[in-house]
Amino acid sequence: MFDGLTASLSKAFKGLSADGRLSAENMKEPLRDVRRALLEADVSLPVVRRFIQKVEAKALGVEVLDGVTPQVAFVKVVSDELVELMGAAGSKDLEPAAGGEGSPQVVLLAGLQGVGKTTAAGKLAMFLTKRRKKVLLVATDVYRPAAIDQLVKLGSKIDVPVYEEGTDASPVDIAARGVAKAVAEGYDAVIVDTAGRLQVDEAMMAELRAIKAAITPSDTLLVVDAMTGQEAAGLVKTFNEQVDLTGAILTKLDGDSRGGAALSVREVSGAPIKFVGTGETMEALEPFYPERMANRILGMGDVLTLYEKAAEAIKEDEVEAFQKRLASARFDFNDFMQQFERISNMGGLKVLKLMPGFSSVSEKQLYEVEKKFKMYSALIGSMTQEERENPELLIKSPSRRRRVAEGAGRKETDVSQLCTEFAAMRVQMQTMSKMMKMGVPGQSDE
Ligand code: GDP
Ligand code: MG
Repeated sequence: MFDGLTASLSKAFKGLSADGRLSAENMKEPLRDVRRALLEADVSLPVVRRFIQKVEAKALGVEVLDGVTPQVAFVKVVSDELVELMGAAGSKDLEPAAGGEGSPQVVLLAGLQGVGKTTAAGKLAMFLTKRRKKVLLVATDVYRPAAIDQLVKLGSKIDVPVYEEGTDASPVDIAARGVAKAVAEGYDAVIVDTAGRLQVDEAMMAELRAIKAAITPSDTLLVVDAMTGQEAAGLVKTFNEQVDLTGAILTKLDGDSRGGAALSVREVSGAPIKFVGTGETMEALEPFYPERMANRILGMGDVLTLYEKAAEAIKEDEVEAFQKRLASARFDFNDFMQQFERISNMGGLKVLKLMPGFSSVSEKQLYEVEKKFKMYSALIGSMTQEERENPELLIKSPSRRRRVAEGAGRKETDVSQLCTEFAAMRVQMQTMSKMMKMGVPGQSDE
């Protein structure tokens, strides 16, 4: 993994300009990788274009600090920009009640059919209930009797009352009377579920506008299915023009969508994603974290072609030589050292935090590992060439271990620890090399 990261990043960067800065020239290829990653994450083309322009403008002339490689500096700009794009400047929480003190927060949910509005209404009600709010749900989808039943069932499951008038009244009247009830009975929040259509049409928009005018919601949230991908940009734009969104709820993030829709929402409407849906249960609603989404988009896309081109991008002869050494079971401290060097060349372990799956590693953990790596390289540095090539010499000889420890200003136990970890790593390597000889892992045991 580390090999892949270093190698493909260094391949992407053809070198810094003379003054050690990111330049239009050396960013060309990495930018192309980012662009491809975003398109693969199903972000719409205009959004991608604007994003790339911004990243380029921001990264241009960024001075690459000592100990940080250009690739790390660049990926950092990309990642920060993604977060900024999705992160709300203001509150990601629901807006306060429009009617001031004592009046309820009024949340209007809009969106196409099947995106998860009714489910989100229930989830949001539960979310607010947990915050000790008294919540009322309002069912205005009069076009399908089953839609009202669905909300009523959800309501009873989470113990939240549902205001409904069956399918005979008009959605606008139901919404107005539902909100009036919430006001009269001292509810803290009222959530109005609406009917969707398979596609945007004028009837749906007219109805939404009328409901909105009747209830003056504090929040108008567009519910967007994460699987919508690049079409989200157009949807968000239309809904925002028609009903002026305060935010969005991105649903079905538990699926295998790459989250490209998330990028469009704020970019197109200026309104933030406030919550994400991560499952069918009423608990599966979370506040939106832009950092996590940035990781998802970067990690699952291809930016990290940068990272992923892995094996293919390492210099071929290097791979071959390494494999030969593995095959001959001659994996020694020099190889071990080489791994460390690769990592420090990438700017140290900080780079791990940029990688999918590692963003939750704490600074402290990274610091500890880095400290250990530094100690190990100091120890290997004070070994003789013979010892580096024949780790057994050290494993067997306490006096050699003491000498190495002294040379590096460490304790003998540090050398023992290095030997132990080295031995474990070598066993792993040898197993791997055997598997490689037998064929594809997983197929060999048939
Ligand atoms: P509506 O037509 O917009 O009201 O959509 P519904 O709330 O009826 O949801 C449509 C389908 O999507 C239902 O089967 C829901 O269980 C499902 N659904 C809603 N939100 C999520 C989610 O976050 N994750 C998953 N996996 N399914 C969801
Ligand atoms: Mg519904």
